[in-house]
Amino acid sequence: MEKVDIAIVGGGIAGLSLGKFLAEKGVPFVIFEEHDEFFKKACGEGITQKIAGYDFLELYGSKKGVEREIWETIIYTKYGEIPLEMPILMIDKKKVEEEFAKKAEKQGEIRKGEKVKKIENGILIPQNIKAKLIVGADGFFSITRKYINVESPKEAIAVEGYKENVEKDESKCHVVLRDDVIKHGYSWYFPKKEKWNIGIGSFNKKYFKEGFEKFKEENYSIEWRGAYIPMGKPLPSYGKNAILVGDACAHVFSNVGAGNMPSIICSYIASDCIEKWVKNDRYELEEYERRWKDVLGKQLKYSYYAGIIFFNLIRSEYIRHKILKKMCSSVSKFYRKMR
Ligand SMILES: Cc1cc2nc3c(=O)[nH]c(=O)nc-3n(C[C@H](O)[C@H](O)[C@H](O)COP(=O)(O)OP(=O)(O)OC[C@H]3O[C@@H](n4cnc5c(N)ncnc54)[C@H](O)[C@@H]3O)c2cc1C
Repeated sequence: MEKVDIAIVGGGIAGLSLGKFLAEKGVPFVIFEEHDEFFKKACGEGITQKIAGYDFLELYGSKKGVEREIWETIIYTKYGEIPLEMPILMIDKKKVEEEFAKKAEKQGEIRKGEKVKKIENGILIPQNIKAKLIVGADGFFSITRKYINVESPKEAIAVEGYKENVEKDESKCHVVLRDDVIKHGYSWYFPKKEKWNIGIGSFNKKYFKEGFEKFKEENYSIEWRGAYIPMGKPLPSYGKNAILVGDACAHVFSNVGAGNMPSIICSYIASDCIEKWVKNDRYELEEYERRWKDVLGKQLKYSYYAGIIFFNLIRSEYIRHKILKKMCSSVSKFYRKMR
């Protein structure tokens, strides 16, 4: 039986960024990715650049695949337009994942086309590999989460596709938050270099179906890709000899469905812990949970409650507009200071 110190299940943005950070620290690892190519899962390809003192560009260490630096998002409600100033990077996610992979491969190994079907007694099956530590970066349907007996998260559902021309200002992101477009969710128009990533999502499957039907009619001839997004508070992130990162652990701002930057930040924290554990040959897994909770725990939890209050409890679109305007104004003020 092959033995490794660190096995990472899943080569999405969480697993690959973790690989890059571990490579920089000189820690060897193996990533198992079920597909032969990266970026097979749907995503709006927006990244909130700065969160909790972390900057994506510093963590990524490159500008490859960064297509646009957007400063302003316009939110359209039934009662008008609300500007939100917040740095968002529009990326070509395939290129970004490939770049993370290239940097990861300096120290680790990425085995593509390798699906881990289950984990039993610390052994990856069918690979028949035993690892001292298993990192579950295996997304919404994580099998690593099953291995450590953590329950699955609730889900939101969203789809995205590329559109050549959209009659909107391409220096901004655009979000439509109206019940007559979709209830308990929103649609988006994000400008990429030569096209737009457009999409729609909802917390509620029935409303999603209704909203998507209309959206499809308005935006025809688009190849849609859909996926679940974990909704809820982040999940317990360790057990047995495994930790979870990214969607596997619901590291997502669930009121907006944004998980790219939280995944990368938690991967960075995980890499720091793993470096120490490998050096001391002592895997104190709870340290990882304590540290990511210190950085992001409250924000992730509050974003879940904000989503519940905003979409489920406040029925009036007028009151939602008013609240959103206040919230956007204070977020804008916060980010304006960093500009
Ligand atoms: C339509 C849509 C739009 C979105 N838009 C945005 C956005 O604009 N901005 C944002 O921040 N977030 C967005 N998100 C959320 C974001 O995409 C996720 O939070 C993020 O991709 C999580 O990364 P991850 O690596 O944890 O999981 P994933 O991206 O799901 O990657 C998991 C990887 O693990 C692999 N894998 C899974 N199981 C196994 C296994 N058993 N063996 C081997 N490999 C396995 C998968 O093939 C995959 O490559 C969006 C989500 C959706 C669905």
